[in-house]
Amino acid sequence: MREFPDYFADAESDFKNARYVIFGVPFDGTSTFRYGSRDAPAEIRKASWNFESFHMETENDLSTIPVHDYGDIQVEDEPEKVVKRVEEFVCKLSGKIPIAIGGEHTISCGVVRALKKRDIAVILLDAHLDFRDSYEGIRYSHACVARRIAEEIGIDNLVILGVRSAGKEEYMEAKEKGLFFVDAFHIKKEGVERVIHQIMERFGERKFYLSLDMDVLDPSFAPGVSTPEPFGLSTLDVKKCVEFFSPSITGFDVVEVCPKYDYGITSVLAAKFIRIAIDMSWSSIKP
Ligand code: MN
Ligand code: MN
Repeated sequence: MREFPDYFADAESDFKNARYVIFGVPFDGTSTFRYGSRDAPAEIRKASWNFESFHMETENDLSTIPVHDYGDIQVEDEPEKVVKRVEEFVCKLSGKIPIAIGGEHTISCGVVRALKKRDIAVILLDAHLDFRDSYEGIRYSHACVARRIAEEIGIDNLVILGVRSAGKEEYMEAKEKGLFFVDAFHIKKEGVERVIHQIMERFGERKFYLSLDMDVLDPSFAPGVSTPEPFGLSTLDVKKCVEFFSPSITGFDVVEVCPKYDYGITSVLAAKFIRIAIDMSWSSIKP
């Protein structure tokens, strides 16, 4: 492949003037099946150069949107420290919209902690419930993300879409605690628009944090993820979710891409979703 600059395509703004700040978190310390999502920020940046800066559907040109790519933040091995580090970084962005590139899903906990004073509802797109209290003795694990986020913002402010895998205990606990989640089969049956409509009825005018665990997609669309799970959402289903929620986002992340098991397919898709999120968010706030 041709050599490209090491920043996300069209992220030409300096930090000071940026409305959006992209940053990578190359951490995969608690991954259990496949390691390698630490390489995803670099791969997704590379993939981003594949696209036109002009978006036909909105007639926006991404190169005119104030986006800054900060690069990767330095992280250690201890998951709790990584979460803290992400939280501190996002706190320094004041009003800017963070766009985080994982790394594993654990990093989302840090972004949500930093944004929770903005009174957000959190939408997770994920094949997994991620609702274990701890996993292999670790509380800040990729398998516990929804649980930690529920503790931060209150379980009523969280919804998970596209679920199709959970442990018996976490599933029972999630139901008992009243966690709002919609499984992939229900989305297929009802159509994603109806499900989005239900969420809007529930959350109305709230601001959202949208976290995209790429394994929510079917592995035939997104094979390069840390824990692939069959019978997932289609690319167009996820596009609709990203398009619909992005006008109200205070932050966005894409996690769990695992380049070692990819042929650029999943990275290209991840880069595209980041571009769509920025495009749709900007369309709603541009002067
Ligand atoms: Mn996850
Ligand atoms: Mn997952």
